[in-house]
Amino acid sequence: MTEGRVRVRFCPSPTGSPHVGFARTALYNWVFARHAALNGGQGTFVFRIEDTDKARSTEESYDAMLGAMRWLGLDWDEGPEVGGPHAPYRQSERGEIYRDVLAKLHDSRFTYDCYCTTDEVDARRKAAGSKVQGYDGFCRDLTEEQVAAFRAEGRRPVVRFRMPDGSITWTDLVRGEITFETQFVPDYALCRANGDPLYTLVNPVDDALMEITHVLRGEDILSSTPRQIPLHEALVELGISKVVPEFGHLPFVTGEGNKKLSKRDPESHLFMYRDTGFLPEGLLNYLALLGWAIGPDRDVFTVEEMVEAFDIKDVNPNPARFDIKKAEAINADHMRMLPIEELTHRVIPFLQAEGVLTDPVDDADAKLLELAMPLVAERMNKLTEAAPMLGFLFADEESFTLVDELDDAGRDVVRAAHEALAALETWSTADIEAALRSKLVDELGLKPRLAFGPVRIAVTGRKVSPPLFESLELLGRDRSLSRLAAAVA
Ligand code: GLU
Ligand code: ZN
Repeated sequence: MTEGRVRVRFCPSPTGSPHVGFARTALYNWVFARHAALNGGQGTFVFRIEDTDKARSTEESYDAMLGAMRWLGLDWDEGPEVGGPHAPYRQSERGEIYRDVLAKLHDSRFTYDCYCTTDEVDARRKAAGSKVQGYDGFCRDLTEEQVAAFRAEGRRPVVRFRMPDGSITWTDLVRGEITFETQFVPDYALCRANGDPLYTLVNPVDDALMEITHVLRGEDILSSTPRQIPLHEALVELGISKVVPEFGHLPFVTGEGNKKLSKRDPESHLFMYRDTGFLPEGLLNYLALLGWAIGPDRDVFTVEEMVEAFDIKDVNPNPARFDIKKAEAINADHMRMLPIEELTHRVIPFLQAEGVLTDPVDDADAKLLELAMPLVAERMNKLTEAAPMLGFLFADEESFTLVDELDDAGRDVVRAAHEALAALETWSTADIEAALRSKLVDELGLKPRLAFGPVRIAVTGRKVSPPLFESLELLGRDRSLSRLAAAVA
């Protein structure tokens, strides 16, 4: 490895919607690069799209991958829409490059043509009583006559990599030394019979060509590493690349019942968090905890703090359990950490989506929102909670309805509250509070909960709302009185 120069990559396949495992891998790679760039070092984060599987890759998913990275704030130094010295960064546009590498490997006998069908391989394995699965190397040394005979039958070959004998060992950055005996790692196909390159070829070839120094990826791909290392060694021998990257395999993320988190679990979908009002800061913090800790007894930190502290050697190889409750709690902490102006800015799209605010926001509404945010900021755990809490302030009187119900006793309280407030000369939080207390608590002898609960429902529509007296002040005298009257009409 070139000292002090780190190049990592994140290379999803654009199939389906981005999931949390995707985001965790992206985050760790990004943080690794940004950490390397501290104190004058060099760290480059490459974003590559592995879309050679034409049947499964979609443009919609490609857009979602980029959108997810942007939402999380994981910017890339090289990749789609950004470009870079190794462009293009979409593998579907790199066919020429792969054909060229494949030809060089073939010329140097690192690969060979294989004419077998799967059935033939299975039958031979069975006949030999072999416990080893997969290809048996039958075509490694075919004679010219054998090749001619296969071709005459109309067979078209796949290209296989010739695995070396012995064993493959690497020191995993997360898991320590790992060894595979190559007798259990069969010669594998690098492209389809029609010449289309496979993941087995394009993934390591691009890591080599893009001068990736560290491959950090999920443990689910660990079994491809013993195949990729000899291919990297071949590429070095051919002068196509200079070094074999280091590898680190990040722990599995498990869901309910310690099963691997699957795409069927709703909490595995990244956009579920965005759409239900998580802050990217909160989710990133939670994702960071899926295999790493900043210190004992400390769960809440910023991504900048993670960049500062991150060391791949501290990543825990044991499976990490995904806990949505904890994710929510951490998000709530990040909500409190945001400056109020920023929080206001972030809730606006959610208020617009619920029809609470118009787009663009009306000037008077913007002022009202600014005054109202301090009342709710401390109470919100997610951005989506703004609409139910603040909706009453922006609703016009015709469309305002009660979400929670008033009973007869409640209506009596509201009538009394109307009377007390109608007599008020100034409309301030303190005066409103004094008037309601004197009427409802002192005069009628009601407990505060029974006194203010019905008033709250009448003016905000809900049992739970921002602080009542402040809410009444913001709502204004006319609207407040008209709601109190409407609630008992
Ligand atoms: N495209 C592969 C995937 O999404 C990348 C694997 C790797 O990181 O090497 O699974
Ligand atoms: Zn064969």
